Amino acid sequence: MKKTISLENLVNDPGCLSEYDPNAMKIEVARKYIHNFLKANTKTEYVNTEDALNRILGETIISKINVPNYNNSAMDGFAFNLDSLKEKNTLEIATTILAGNLSKHKIKPGFAAQVMTGSKIPNGTDTVLPFELVKQENDSIVVSKLPTKGANIRKLGEDIKKNGDVLKKGVFLRPAEVGLIASIGISKIKVFKKIKVSFFSTGDEVVKAGHPIKSGQVYDSNHFTIQSMLKRINVECVDLGIIPDDKKLIEKTFKNAAKVSDAIITTGGVSVGKADFMKDVLKKLGKVLFWKLSIKPGRPMAYGAFKATPYFGLPGNPVAAMITFYQLVQPALKYLMGQDNYKLPMLLKAKCVAPISKRPGRMEFQRGFFTSKNGELSVKPTPHQGSAILSSMSKANCLIVLDIDQKSIKVDDYVNIQLMEGLV
Ligand code: AMP
Ligand code: MG
Repeated sequence: MKKTISLENLVNDPGCLSEYDPNAMKIEVARKYIHNFLKANTKTEYVNTEDALNRILGETIISKINVPNYNNSAMDGFAFNLDSLKEKNTLEIATTILAGNLSKHKIKPGFAAQVMTGSKIPNGTDTVLPFELVKQENDSIVVSKLPTKGANIRKLGEDIKKNGDVLKKGVFLRPAEVGLIASIGISKIKVFKKIKVSFFSTGDEVVKAGHPIKSGQVYDSNHFTIQSMLKRINVECVDLGIIPDDKKLIEKTFKNAAKVSDAIITTGGVSVGKADFMKDVLKKLGKVLFWKLSIKPGRPMAYGAFKATPYFGLPGNPVAAMITFYQLVQPALKYLMGQDNYKLPMLLKAKCVAPISKRPGRMEFQRGFFTSKNGELSVKPTPHQGSAILSSMSKANCLIVLDIDQKSIKVDDYVNIQLMEGLV
């Protein structure tokens, strides 16, 4: 698919692409379409390195120094010139050099310096032996087995070379990357500005936690799952509340959302019910690219744009809302945020310990609990798989991912699983 097709062209003339089916979009195709109509964040700001965790690097970082910036000992032991051991196996201890001692020492042949982990390797020496491998006698050491030259020395620049690339623009900063940046002495870095995402729940029956509830109403869990998932990926959340099934109010909220945010997420109202207005409103105010996916749960999911702001209309059912967020919205937001190469956790093979009934036609994301024994993974689907059973998400530690053409699974069949650790 070429980048040149505009969302507008596609919506007005869907026949221009053979794989485009707004009524039953395959997930891979949906991902491609979503991606094609997004514009990645380009705005950056400087933050202190200690505040950089979970941000996305907005510049390629080049090191001005070598790490380590001096040859140093990897062990507590003795440094000496290996060749001087060829004549006799005894060396006299000349001095002790602690880590942090910056003096220039020179050790003559036949002598050794006592060094600690991180001590500067003195001139005249090329090898270190740990205390445990030498015999100390008064002011001398006896070496019974010759080590290889250079043993136990950490070389200048062996971690990071001066003027070399350390981290590329677009990298997501984990604790290791934050430490790496600090290890080259940088205390402020350029990161992409956080994106703002507006979200609101829709539904006449939906009530906010903390308020009384009547029979026929449901507490708004989507609001909390969506907000929590957004917070996890370090997005600025704009909470627009719960909006009743009222076209005028939905329109108004959309307009507000588009003004203040880089993306809009809603839940509910995207199906074919009498009060499902999201698609109509969006068709009027913006563009709808697709509204049905061939996945389960999560068939009713709309994607489009309100002016230039991308819109994700997630299903009202709580599990469906979470699954569509993780599988489609999270990768899209990561791209918008400026992250390069975001990948969903890879699929692993696990033996299924219970049968799963499935008909071909939709890709399924069942909730499962995996265990590992003797290096083999097994997985058990959680008992209730309905798209409204939010407790199934809470009980699960993985998703069982069943391909569109897959039929029912028998006990001991292998299935693909996606660990929630790393996804959530
Ligand atoms: P809808 O997609 O609007 O047809 O809603 C599908 C189902 O999800 C209905 O049973 C709704 O009551 C329920 N639902 C919709 N929104 C929420 C929400 N924010 N929190 C919990 N359940 C919801
Ligand atoms: Mg509804």
